[in-house]
Amino acid sequence: MDAHDIRQAYLDFFVARGHHVIARAPLVPRDDPSTLFNGSGMQQLVPYLLGAEHPDGTRLTDSQPCLRAQDIEEVGDNRHTTFFEMLGNWSLGDYFKREQIPWFHEFLTDVVGLDPARIYVSCFSGMERFGLPKDTESADIWAGLFEAAGLDAERVDLGTEEAGARLGTGGARIAFYGDKNWWCRMGSADAMPVGEPGGPDTEVFYLYPDVPHDPAYGEHCHQNCDCGRFIELGNSVFTEYRRTETGFESLPRKNVDYGGGLERIAAAAIDSPDVFAVSVLRPVVDRLVELSGADYGEHAAAMRVVADHLRGATFLVVDGVRPSNKEQGYVLRRLIRRAVRFAFGLGLTEEFAADLVPVVADVYRDRYPEVAAHRDDAVAVVAREERSFRRTVRRGIALMHETSERGGRLTGADLFTLYDTYGFPVELGLEEARRSNVTVDPGWREEFDAAMAEQRERSRAAAKR
Ligand code: ATP
Ligand code: MG
Ligand code: MG
Ligand code: MG
Repeated sequence: MDAHDIRQAYLDFFVARGHHVIARAPLVPRDDPSTLFNGSGMQQLVPYLLGAEHPDGTRLTDSQPCLRAQDIEEVGDNRHTTFFEMLGNWSLGDYFKREQIPWFHEFLTDVVGLDPARIYVSCFSGMERFGLPKDTESADIWAGLFEAAGLDAERVDLGTEEAGARLGTGGARIAFYGDKNWWCRMGSADAMPVGEPGGPDTEVFYLYPDVPHDPAYGEHCHQNCDCGRFIELGNSVFTEYRRTETGFESLPRKNVDYGGGLERIAAAAIDSPDVFAVSVLRPVVDRLVELSGADYGEHAAAMRVVADHLRGATFLVVDGVRPSNKEQGYVLRRLIRRAVRFAFGLGLTEEFAADLVPVVADVYRDRYPEVAAHRDDAVAVVAREERSFRRTVRRGIALMHETSERGGRLTGADLFTLYDTYGFPVELGLEEARRSNVTVDPGWREEFDAAMAEQRERSRAAAKR
């Protein structure tokens, strides 16, 4: 099953269980100034999760294109992209844990065909200070599913050395992670105003036993370890409590809010720990390999950044965003510029975006016809931004070469001029210096920071005048 098949199978699975497919929300929320982008499936459903009646009933499903600018620095690892699709299903006061957990498990194992022995989960530990109980209900349901598949269903509370060691051997399928598995809009139970709903969350991870644990992330590997050996596929939030003056009370109407990563599930389906191997990203990476002649294995991080950023940029343009210096437009600009910068590192110094955007559009032709319809706009917008940034980059590079010809070393002040006058990112300056064998002054950082602080002071003073 490729990513398109999985998306369709997911929607069919939930339609067969009484769900209504709702339309995707645009990447830029219509009536919600509190956030720049739609970053999850539930965002457009907040009023209904809070109690409003949804016109399509109490069982809903969709696949929602999301953009998480906050994940931009993560891109380059095996599982984060700024743009991705989130599969969702919701119960608005309808079914609850007994249905949701087995359905998700059934979808993963029977429909997608994942290995049940590689599925690990986490559950909510409870919060004594609020009288919130441990979510043993979810853990019991998971244990039943694991045992039915002939697997052990050991539980462990994370945080003790012993727990970490046991998880390292893959011994405990069900881990309780404390406050981490509490969900509310504020992030933490302490910050919730009276009346605010929240609840436990159960997360599902897929183990890639051949990916070695990276000790930089801690001594032991476990479900929630960020080394990339376990990959989170999705989580179900059970909104069942409401904040009171003194603690929490049960909600009369309990909801389920499930979100799962389409690309991550599609990667698991082909037994790859790399989301860029799936059918919606692979063609972009392949074209990049062709254009650059570089090897994916050697340059995976840079290629992932370029592929992700151009896909995200394409969807943003399709959804009406244009490059600018603020808000959504700034994020779009940043994505395109970063793609160009990382492409430089791959030896792609000529324009390439116009070549890749159509590859993205083609991938989504059937599922999101609006992408194909706005393909030419997307090419034009991305190409224009790329061109102007390339000019900037060239000017900066020329300046750097002059510096080296004068026999000088690149100082923090030079890097600041490059940055301030030419919009030349520091990392690119350093990379370029390395490529052209220009020595960089070891104390560049302090000098750069000082110049930056001085510049800030100047503009503050100017603003006061
Ligand atoms: P992670 O811990 O891996 O960053 P998350 O807990 O932040 O994921 P959620 O907010 O729970 O993610 O979103 C639901 C699902 O969407 C995740 O379980 C994951 O499968 C997928 N997802 C989240 N962020 C990304 C991303 N940046 N790229 C691809 N898929 C993602
Ligand atoms: Mg995250
Ligand atoms: Mg997570
Ligand atoms: Mg999560």
